[in-house]
Formats: sequence, C-alpha cells, structure tokens
Amino acid sequence: MNIKEKDNLYIANTYARFDLQLKEGKGSLVYDEEGKEYIDMATGIAVNTFGFCDDEWIKAVNSQLNCLQHASNLYYTEPCVKLAEMLCEKTGMKKVFFSNSGAEANECAIKVARKYAADKKGKEYNTIITLKNSFHGRTITTLAATGQDVFHNDFLPLTDGFVYCEANNSDQLKSLVESEKIAAIMFETVQGEGGVLPLSEEFVKTIFELAEKNDILTIADEVQTGNGRTGALYGYMNYGVTPDIFSTAKGLGGGLPLGVTVLGEKVKDVLNAGSHGSTFGGNPIACAGAVSILSRIDDVLLKAVREKSQYIVEKLSNAEGVKSVSGKGFMLGIETEKDATEVINECMKNGVLVIKAKNKVRLLPALNIPMDLLEKAVDTIINACKRGN
Ligand SMILES: *Cc1c(COP(=O)(O)O)cnc(C)c1O
Repeated sequence: MNIKEKDNLYIANTYARFDLQLKEGKGSLVYDEEGKEYIDMATGIAVNTFGFCDDEWIKAVNSQLNCLQHASNLYYTEPCVKLAEMLCEKTGMKKVFFSNSGAEANECAIKVARKYAADKKGKEYNTIITLKNSFHGRTITTLAATGQDVFHNDFLPLTDGFVYCEANNSDQLKSLVESEKIAAIMFETVQGEGGVLPLSEEFVKTIFELAEKNDILTIADEVQTGNGRTGALYGYMNYGVTPDIFSTAKGLGGGLPLGVTVLGEKVKDVLNAGSHGSTFGGNPIACAGAVSILSRIDDVLLKAVREKSQYIVEKLSNAEGVKSVSGKGFMLGIETEKDATEVINECMKNGVLVIKAKNKVRLLPALNIPMDLLEKAVDTIINACKRGN
C-alpha cells in the first residue's frame, strides 16, 4: 500500500485531502513525491508565515532544540518570556497566556471573559455574542462560539451561553446587547473559513461603542488574521481599535503548534494560579521559532504585503471568470464563475496550490513571497478562472 492508501486506512477520515502528497519545500516552492514543483499560495492554511523551511526560523528552532525542548510550566524558561514581552511591546497589551492551537487560545479568551463578567457584573452575565458565519475552533465550546449550524449538528448539546449576530448588522447587535446579559463580543475582523469576508468599519465601530458603554469585553479572534496576514500586524489594527482580548495561533509559530491569548489592561489579572493551564503551552521550541517570526513582521514587510495584495486584487478583479475579490492583505477570496473546486484543481494541475473558503478560492501566500513567483501564480489562477478552460 502507498502512503495515500495507508492514510485512508489508519487516519480518521476527517479531512477531504487533495490527491497530492507533499515531500519537501523551500520558501514559496514545494515539491510532491514525484518532484513536481508548486508555487504555494496556501501556506498550510496561513501557518508558514515565511514559507517552507525558512532559514532564520530553522536556526532559531534548531538552537533551542539542542538546548532545552520542554520543561513544563512549573519552571521559568526564557523563550516564552521573550515572546510574551515582544507581543506586549508590539501591541500595547499587558499579559499573555500560551497554549498550542487556535481553539485553545479561544477557549482561554472565553474563560477570561466569563470570569471577568462574573467577578464584576454577576454570574448571570455569561452570554457571549459571536457572529453568524464565524469560525472559532473545533472543541465543544469553540464550536458553540462558531456561528455555523453545519459544524454543530452532529455534536449537540454544545456549551450554553452563545448568541449569534449577523456580521455587519449593527441594529441586530444593539438589540442583542439590550436583550441579553452579555459578557463579551467575539469576532474575526476578516471571517476566514466563512468566505474571506471583512467586517465593515461601521460595524467594528458599533462593537466598540456598545462594549465601552456597557462594560462588555471585546475579543478579536486573530488566529487567521493575525501576525501580518492582513497587511497589519493584527487585523484589528486596520480599524484603529484595540480589543480587550485577542487570540492568535496559526502563523505565529511559523509551522510549529502555538496558540496565545493576549490580555489588555482590563483583564490582565483575571486569571490567577490554578484558574487555567496547559502542559505544552509556551513550549520553548515553538516560542523560539515564534520570536524569529514575530521579530521580522515589521513595517517594511507589512507595506510590501499591502502592495503585493493590491497587485493581486487589481489583476484578478479584471480577469475573465472572476466575479469578485474580497479580503485584506494576503488573506483573499476569489468568487469565480466556475465552481471553486474546479479552479483549485486546475491550478494544482498547473503547479499552483490554492485552497477553498466556502464557495471561494482562497489565497494565503507567504508574507515574503518573491514578486516573480507571485506574478506566475496569479497568471496561473487567471487562466484557471477563464470560461471554457
Ligand atoms: C483556524 C482557526 C481557528 C482554529 O484554530 P486551530 O489551531 O485549528 O484550533 C480558530 N479561529 C479562526 C479564525 C481560525 O481561522
């Protein structure tokens, strides 16, 4: 049996994998087991921030690997402290809690919000507003936070205490704040899995006004939008607001599992000894790699991301067979006349890896993708979108 057959036999069939086995990669190029080359426009779902096997990241990870791979949170270690300091200094937030995935980072954010509201306003203020069409993870509680019934149906009952507001519907948000006892409002500034849909300026403004007025916490889920992905360090920065809590994961670790819940002034001391924990959280190797990643997401890089994004949007918006392009920075969704799956498979055949988000073709290139590879990938995508091709 080959790898694909054994995978189907021995691994739970939760993923509809492409018929493609990847072997090795460097930067924005990746090769299958037969040596065919692909330009990667998916980065392992917004994880490989600087592409495959980035030299500086490898160096940081390797040197930590040869020194101390894990110690547990019973002891002090340096890499997680360095990363925490860097996260706080770059965002103005105050404290962090480390975990290993986006779902866990969101779980922590939800726990902090519940405890803050219970301490301050009373235990009955335990409801969290999330948005319809959102995605916050696969644990029972983050599934409850996820505003999409398709993910819920087989796993009921889910955690209580979530109500859903249509994205960009300020009137509905206002009426939910009036009718329910709300602890927090949780949102992605660009809904990723939901179809690469950015929130409107007006809606984000409404979230923060309502939160301020009613002592409701704001939680930005920056798992996908974070770490430079949207052309700002964190997606909320595009809107000139600062949440009380944000979660991030995916691109922060650059390819190793790492989640973090970042806490602002209001909530920095809500968690105390024993109220939360994680065996692997703050792992030295993951954190050493993340320090290398985060230290390089600077203004110069972010400007380049925004400019290259502009290039992609202009080229694709005017292309035959493209209905619309949505998103921000290097998180883009293309609505195509053809079925998205057909376009994605055509791209793969022609050496470009792109993925899907709802009915759209989703692009998540490495933040440092070279212009020549980007141009080549965009041309391939344009060809794949053409009618009758
Ligand atoms: C991917 C994602 C998650 C879940 O992250 P995991 O690491 O898979 O648990 C949560 N929220 C958003 C916005 C995501 O894109």
